[in-house]
This record gives sequence, C-alpha cells and structure tokens, in this order.
Amino acid sequence: MSKRVRVRFAPSPTGGLHLGGVRTVLYNYLFARQQGGDFILRIEDTDQSRFVPGAEEYIYDTLRWCGLEPDESPLLGGGFGPYRQSERKSSYRRYAEELVKMGHAYYAFDTPEELEAKRKEFPNFQYNHDARKHLRNSLTMDELSIQELLDAGTRHVIRIRMPENQEVGFDDMIRGEVSFNTSQVDDKVLLKADNMPTYHLAVVVDDHLMQISHVFRGEEWLPSAPVHVLLWQWLFGLDHMPTWAHLPLILKPDGHGKLSKRDGDRLGFPVFAMDWTDPNTGEKTKGFKERGFLPEAFVNMLALLGWNAGTEQEIFTLQELIDAFSLERVHKGGAKFNYEKALWFNHEWIRNLPLSRYEGQVSDLFVQQGLNPGDPHRLSRIIELVKDRCHLLTDFPQQAGFFFKAPATIDLAAVSPKWSAAKNQFFVELMSIYELATSWEAEPLELGFKELAAASQIKPGELLLPFRIMLVGGKFGPGVFDIAALLGRVETISRIKSLLQLLPAV
Ligand code: GLU
Repeated sequence: MSKRVRVRFAPSPTGGLHLGGVRTVLYNYLFARQQGGDFILRIEDTDQSRFVPGAEEYIYDTLRWCGLEPDESPLLGGGFGPYRQSERKSSYRRYAEELVKMGHAYYAFDTPEELEAKRKEFPNFQYNHDARKHLRNSLTMDELSIQELLDAGTRHVIRIRMPENQEVGFDDMIRGEVSFNTSQVDDKVLLKADNMPTYHLAVVVDDHLMQISHVFRGEEWLPSAPVHVLLWQWLFGLDHMPTWAHLPLILKPDGHGKLSKRDGDRLGFPVFAMDWTDPNTGEKTKGFKERGFLPEAFVNMLALLGWNAGTEQEIFTLQELIDAFSLERVHKGGAKFNYEKALWFNHEWIRNLPLSRYEGQVSDLFVQQGLNPGDPHRLSRIIELVKDRCHLLTDFPQQAGFFFKAPATIDLAAVSPKWSAAKNQFFVELMSIYELATSWEAEPLELGFKELAAASQIKPGELLLPFRIMLVGGKFGPGVFDIAALLGRVETISRIKSLLQLLPAV
C-alpha cells in the first residue's frame, strides 16, 4: 500500500514571506490537494536568537489571504503536534545522543571564542572532517575527560560526523539524481548548547515523526540535502525518507541571480506577499496584497513561475491548478520574475471575477482616498465601467475618483489651443438640452450631443475631448456618455459650466 501523502511548509518565522516562499506553499498545497493528502504548516522556530515578533502571525495571514489553508498547524492542531518546533524541544536530544552512540555525531566543547579565533586565523576555516581532528571534541579526547566535562555540565554542542569522501545522493523529483561528496560538507551542529536542535536535526526528526511523505522546498536547501540524507539513513532508514523536490529559484527580471527584497525596492515592485515591517529595524517591505493584487491572480502568477501546463492556458483558478499541476512540468532552471506579467494576471482576474469578490475592497480604497463610495448599486456600475482600465485594485480610485469628486486638476492645455466661440456656444446649448432631457441614460445623451453637433456644424470628434476634460479632468476614462449618465444631470451640467468659466473668452 502506498504511503498517505503528507507534505509540509516549514518556515522559520523571521520576517515577511518572499514570493518564492509562497510559491513553495502553493506547490505543497497543490500536490497535497491533488493527491488527497494532508498539507501541514510547521513553524521552525528553533533559532531563538532570530525570534521576530509578529512573523508567525504574518505567515497565517498570508496563507489565509492566498486561500492556501493548511490541514494541520500550530493554530489548528492535528494528530502530530505540537507544530511549533520550540514546543518539541525535549524530543530532539535523544536522537542526537543516539547518533553519538552510533559514532555518527560527537560532542564538541570548543567555546564560541575559540572558534572565532580560528576563523580569524584561517578565513576559510570550516569545522570539517579535517579540522575536527585538531579541535576540542569527543573524537580527540579520551573517554574520561569527556565524561568529566559532561558531568560538570560544560557547555557543548553535538555535531554530525561527516564521513570522508563518500558519495551521498538521492533522487529529486525535479532534478533527478543528485549527489554530493561528503568531504565538501562541514560537520554541522545538530544540537546547540541550549539543547535546541538546529534546523538540520529538527527537520529530519519532525519530517519523520509527522510522517511527511514528500518535501517541496526551495533550491537554496539543496546543499543541506547530504546532511539530511545521512541523518535519515542513520536514524530512520532511507526507505522511510520522504521524496524530495527542490524548487527552482525565482530570479531577478534580468535573470542574474535570485530575486531579493532589495530588488523590489530598486525596481519598484513588491517581493513579499503582504506588507511587512521588521519590528527590530523598522525596515518596510512592500507586499502584493497592499499593492492591489487579488489573491487569485497572485496565486495564478506564482504557479506559472516555474511550472506550465504544457498548453496555451495561463489563467487558472486554484481548482484548475490542483487538477493540472504536475511535477514533470516544473522547470529545473530558475524562473525570471516579470512584474509586467504579474500585472497582466491581475488585470485578467479583475476583468473576469464577479465584482462581488472585490468591490468591498475597492470601496475601502475609495474611503482611504477620502472619497465617499455612496450607493453600492452605483458603485458596482462604476466598477464595471472602469475595471478594464485597472491592473491593480489600487488603480480604481485614480480611474474612477472623478465619479465621486469633481476633478482637482484639469488638463486645460488639451482644450484651450483649439477652443472657439462656436464650441463655447455648443456647450452652452448642450447645457440647456441636458437640463431638459427626459431620460438621463448614455444613449439619449449621446444622441442629443450628436444632433446638436450636427446642427452646429462641428464634428462630434472635436467636441468629445473637451467634454471628457470637463467631466474627468484629463484624457482618460471610459465612454464619456457612460460617465455623464453615472454622474447625473446636476453634476454633469455643473462640470460643463466650471470648465467654460476656466477657458479663455473667445
Ligand atoms: N525552516 C526552513 C525554511 O525556513 C525549512 C526548509 C525545508 O523546507 O526543509 O525554509
């Protein structure tokens, strides 16, 4: 019988979530849902020195915003808890001790000062198979001295004893056979002096205890894989090791190197899922959510950063992604991030989602801009009218603000050079016609406008731009009669009148 599929996202809560992190969540999630398995969120917080207040809550909020909710987590609990590694502290030491007994790990008594001195003396210093022969550890000391030090409660760590010159490999679901020479890898600390495990020990022990079947994680963890393979081999047996997939990096737009949060600042796009302010440094990093992305678009865009369906299809709902996702189509090479493409996805989703999905957010954005969204029915009509012009939800106040407030700036230069007495007269008459109009809808308004233009012997094309500038303030916006219809009689006439007063007398 094949193992139940259980995957995990295992972030260290040290700051906001980079879009690469969210993509890791997504691929885990898609695989779990497709296979009818479980998706687990495990918080890897064993490095107490890196504790950042709010970082764990940020992870929950991000997963919730993206709609990628786990089945088991510190918040939800589950049959394999606790799901926060700091709460599992007492379970790790025995595995480290077991490794020492087997001869695969050792006590190292070197003080941080001693190691610092070594690093100063030898800039390339590594605690490895060679260096360990000359340092203060249980491989270089006799049993009695070791026991004395341990009995006296001397500060120590437990390190892995990397074998010399062995090939250690595994079959990666994306990369195929991957192998490493163990001499290249240093003797990582497994258990720290405060009895907390390091990531390496904790990840292996917990993947075992939580019965994880498949691991999806970023390519940056590949160099750690030989350590993990050996720990699996020694502690639990390779037959029980999860199947791994190391996901390709997300690259800078020019393809040169990994996309970092600094690139976002430099190039003017978000790199985190949501805004994040580091409580220790006050540093702010922008998020896709606050920039005005819909979670549907963000998730869709991320899915395609490193995977494709092998068809022309680019727009996918989450359910469609669950159905279509396949590891064979995850690329080995890094995926270049393209912000223009991200905007395209969001634009498509804004156009195609039912308004009810996001009109509340748009209404809030208006309020934030000091605009009163007013009647919800009218608001829906306005959103419908301008949505094709918005790539971001945050574009709505700019694209539709004039429906709620007379334009603050008017592009007079677009009108004045070609202004004439005849045009002035046209608009004066148009006001009278519109004053008496029996039906205030786009079509009759357009008809009245065109009839008057014909009678005035002016091409309607020459009048439409001034009319637009009157209503909107600039050369943008949807159909001008649709705008007038929604603005209403009083406001339309008042805006015509205001511009006529601003234009030079002719
Ligand atoms: N705690 C690691 C991280 O912060 C987890 C890596 C893994 O998935 O093994 O990404």
